[in-house]
Amino acid sequence: MKYNRTYNFSAGPATMPEPVLEEIRDEMMNYRGSGMCVMEMSHRSKVYQQIIDEAEQDLRDLMGIPDNYKVLFIQGGATLQFAMIPMNLMKNGVACYVETGAWSKKAIAEAKKYGDVHVVASSKDKNYTYIPDCDDLDIPENTDYVYICENETIHGVTWQKLPNTKGHVLVSDQSSMFLSKPCNVSDYGLIYAGVQKNVGPAGMVVVIIREDLIRDDLDPHVPIYMSYKTHADNGSMYNTPNCWAIYCCGKVFKYLKSIGGLEAMEKLNIEKAKVMYDFLDSSRMFKGTVEKKDRSLMNIPFVTESAELDAKVVAATKAAGYDNLKGHKSVGGLRASVYNAMPKEGVEALVEFLKKFEAENS
Ligand SMILES: *Cc1c(COP(=O)(O)O)cnc(C)c1O
Repeated sequence: MKYNRTYNFSAGPATMPEPVLEEIRDEMMNYRGSGMCVMEMSHRSKVYQQIIDEAEQDLRDLMGIPDNYKVLFIQGGATLQFAMIPMNLMKNGVACYVETGAWSKKAIAEAKKYGDVHVVASSKDKNYTYIPDCDDLDIPENTDYVYICENETIHGVTWQKLPNTKGHVLVSDQSSMFLSKPCNVSDYGLIYAGVQKNVGPAGMVVVIIREDLIRDDLDPHVPIYMSYKTHADNGSMYNTPNCWAIYCCGKVFKYLKSIGGLEAMEKLNIEKAKVMYDFLDSSRMFKGTVEKKDRSLMNIPFVTESAELDAKVVAATKAAGYDNLKGHKSVGGLRASVYNAMPKEGVEALVEFLKKFEAENS
């Protein structure tokens, strides 16, 4: 390996494409003749305006975002959206949530502070190992929106088919699957993604919101920063944005365009995940924890027969150069996060290692 880097299976912050890191390194001391690093630039400068404009345009090109949607770069990570969404979208004070794991659970807890929350489906009965059937949900007529977490990072389940919202606005947390496959933006009213899983550095969220959902009649107690209108009216620069994260994300958007866009990315992600799932399905020591039909392409939780053996595997993989395979503390076991930037060779090498481990330890 050129830089003696580890294969990093972290769930987030997570591995980045090497060509992007190299470009950032090359521009570090003097960004394109500006005489300074992007970190040192005024966000009001012409050179920075071009960086943010290009980032937005490249994301629009990648996802085919229609003109009646705004793209916003907001700080506070994905977590701040758990509050911003109900604060901005609850007109009637009613929303429906589908509970599919740790992240939708957190969003539900936050939304309950702002209105009447209906948990219209849940997979809690089987410890969030599947996506419930959402073809015919009991959705009240006055519901402001239906909320899902489209890929549960901790539990490793993903939506193959969006819920039937019966004409209501769909809101989706795409944090851990953002840009992993093509997305039909007009199926949604609002999409958001914390960028540190599949795109860039932590501390920022991308919000894609249909313009008619941006209101100017919010409760006057809503902080200025937490109104989508503030960000939409000011080109994501009401205050100093996360300039560095926007710059790095912009590089990743360009990189994804250069390798063939989201169709090409999806193809590669399917191939990568298959390497891991085929192994889990044939192994006697390791097994996946999620129902096959709902398996995530990005986060792959798996277990052995005991917590002791799990810990032994984690230690052995780390020593061999495969890092961050320990499962989330709430679930245990192991988890391989194989985001866009994880090369297929990384997954193949991990599987070879696990095969060898199994042979030597059974
Ligand atoms: C990581 C994650 C979050 C929280 O992101 P922060 O940026 O840490 O606030 C929310 N939702 C999902 C699906 C995540 O994976």
